[in-house]
Amino acid sequence: MEFVVTPQPVPAVSVTGSEDFFPVHRIYCVGRNYADHVKEMGGDPKQEPPVFFSKPATALVLENEDVSYPQATNDLHHEVELVVALKSGGKDIALESALDCVYGYAVGIDFTRRDLQTIAKNKGRPWDVAKGFDQSAPISSIRPSSECGHPVDAQIQLKINNEIRQQANINEMIWTVPEIISELSKFFELKSGDLIYTGTPAGVAAVQAGDRLTATIEGVGELGFNIV
Ligand code: MN
Repeated sequence: MEFVVTPQPVPAVSVTGSEDFFPVHRIYCVGRNYADHVKEMGGDPKQEPPVFFSKPATALVLENEDVSYPQATNDLHHEVELVVALKSGGKDIALESALDCVYGYAVGIDFTRRDLQTIAKNKGRPWDVAKGFDQSAPISSIRPSSECGHPVDAQIQLKINNEIRQQANINEMIWTVPEIISELSKFFELKSGDLIYTGTPAGVAAVQAGDRLTATIEGVGELGFNIV
């Protein structure tokens, strides 16, 4: 087969403690998955089903790569999140077998152009321009679950210029990882290579060019990069 233009490379994320790479197929995201964050955004955590959206796989930024402050916003927000990497998938995955699909876990940032998201919410428009832009999904290396298990009780933290901005425990997630996989597979056929950003705790706020971000999840990994 001859392509008429040169194909773009497959996005891939390094595997912790290895020379190997995890090839990325799609990036799914969960919105409003920590009660304190739902409240800070003006919602009611008990009345809302999981909110799913997606980013292109090309939105990934790998460990230690700089993020350029994006165009078309004056209010770029950080959202630190546990990321799930899938080794298999399917449709209508049962809750009991959902964790069998997991390859491993990583630390990610779901960058959000909050000003554009507010306009979209107010006008009932899609979130794509607020969420799915270039370099909107920094990610650490992926730690295989064969090493770290399936973390359910772990501190998640984001520091900017060494000051804590977000701190919580992933056990505060409204929808657990198996529930997210099972629910998401009711809408999409999940595949190996899919990543799921599982939502952010409270404390989201703006970042600026010149900031250094350091994100950690206990037992999973660490992510550090600069905004330029
Ligand atoms: Mn998010």
